[in-house]
Amino acid sequence: MSEEKNNHDDHEIEEVKQEDEKKEIEHYCYLCHRPESMTGKMLTLPNDIYICPDCMQRTLDSMGNGQFGFIDARNLDLDNLDFTKIMGDMQGMQPQPALKKKKKDKKEKQELNLKDLPAPHKIKAMLDEYVIGQDYAKKVMSVAVYNHYKRVVTNTMDEIEIDKSNMLMIGPTGCGKTYLVKTLARLLKVPLAITDATSLTEAGYIGDDVESVLSKLLQAADNDVEEAEHGIIFIDEIDKIAKKQNTNSRDVSGEAVQQGLLKLLEGAEVEVPVGATNKNAMVPMTTINTKNILFICGGAFPNLEGIIKKRMMKKTSIGFGADLKDRFDQEENIIANVTNDDLREYGMIPEFIGRLPMVFTLDGLTKEMLVKILKEPKNAILKQYQKLLELDEVKLEFDDGALEAIAQKALEKKTGARALRAIIEKFMLDIMYEIPKDDSIGRVVITKDYIENHGSPVIELRDQ
Ligand code: ADP
Repeated sequence: MSEEKNNHDDHEIEEVKQEDEKKEIEHYCYLCHRPESMTGKMLTLPNDIYICPDCMQRTLDSMGNGQFGFIDARNLDLDNLDFTKIMGDMQGMQPQPALKKKKKDKKEKQELNLKDLPAPHKIKAMLDEYVIGQDYAKKVMSVAVYNHYKRVVTNTMDEIEIDKSNMLMIGPTGCGKTYLVKTLARLLKVPLAITDATSLTEAGYIGDDVESVLSKLLQAADNDVEEAEHGIIFIDEIDKIAKKQNTNSRDVSGEAVQQGLLKLLEGAEVEVPVGATNKNAMVPMTTINTKNILFICGGAFPNLEGIIKKRMMKKTSIGFGADLKDRFDQEENIIANVTNDDLREYGMIPEFIGRLPMVFTLDGLTKEMLVKILKEPKNAILKQYQKLLELDEVKLEFDDGALEAIAQKALEKKTGARALRAIIEKFMLDIMYEIPKDDSIGRVVITKDYIENHGSPVIELRDQ
């Protein structure tokens, strides 16, 4: 009896499993390669072949006045058709370009147009709300992005003989490179893909092909090719694909990746798999034109300062070397003097640098900037915690000394603003744990002493 019940249960589990699997797997049309979510319900043929209603209709139309001449495929009794008879015709048909059509039932897409494109000063003002400092970078980016999208929306990318506004951002880790690009893409409402250059290798080697960055962008654009074609691709850690010095082996993750990126940066038609980042036979392919895609590369370029200093020393007359060395050593923002020659010396190939006409540097974050990052941006960490506690009707405050102490701790970690959240989270843990316990607490002040582990936060009770 119990064995019978077990068998019955197993059977049920198996059925549920199969049901789940059915729900998760997306079918692609055998002819046009679009997914079922775009085409509507597909016809299932033997051997797991699926045909979308549009291709079905085309097949029927192409059969002229025959048996199916005037039938709307969408109203067919799908279960009672002689598929084997019409399969032959279908096989001979040209596949339609995949995914070119817009999704019909998707919420209204934000079309870029010249009228809505914010002017550079407006783009910068919007960036100012989120990103602290980095004024020069913001200015360069605002102008470059404005020019880029002006050409995209007026369709004059080919006519104007100006280089694409692809950019190279140089700045220490955690100073806001990725954050700037993310904020920019969000403000402009364009899809963004972020990739790490270290994960890329030459095609055929372990790692991702350079084309995988386009698949990521396509995913970010919900598989809408048109939208992906005016998106932004951010390639981080670009300094890690510098040409390896003194190597006898093939440089598959360095120079070869730079070579591979060349054609994408400039503008090319590239076949990319839909819904996966690596090419494999079972995934449908689509073509993306990279002409209007804005590429932004970012990297910390450690030791670049040394190369710049060396060049500057060479340029000046012989004999004052020691003097000059002192002067350059004291100068804080040496990196801002970077030239294409320095980047070439670093290991970037000339063709690659040539395709990134906008090169600019970002400043390392100072203690003052870190304090501002804590409290000023629209979504500042402090504001987030204050909002959270406000829901418990508790007022949270940080005194100035505490903010400076947090910034100082972050500075010592040498990971830029990235360290701030981790530090605050550590100190806020106890507070977030204890406060909801006690209804009478009305105000909490985080003090410098608490951050430096000499004391505890000041807690005030509510007026009864
Ligand atoms: P990276 O320069 O290494 O790409 P990120 O942009 O990823 O650094 O910065 C890490 C985090 O630090 C961001 O998510 C952001 O919250 C914060 N941050 C960094 N720089 C700034 C800045 N200038 N203004 C505001 N927040 C910043």
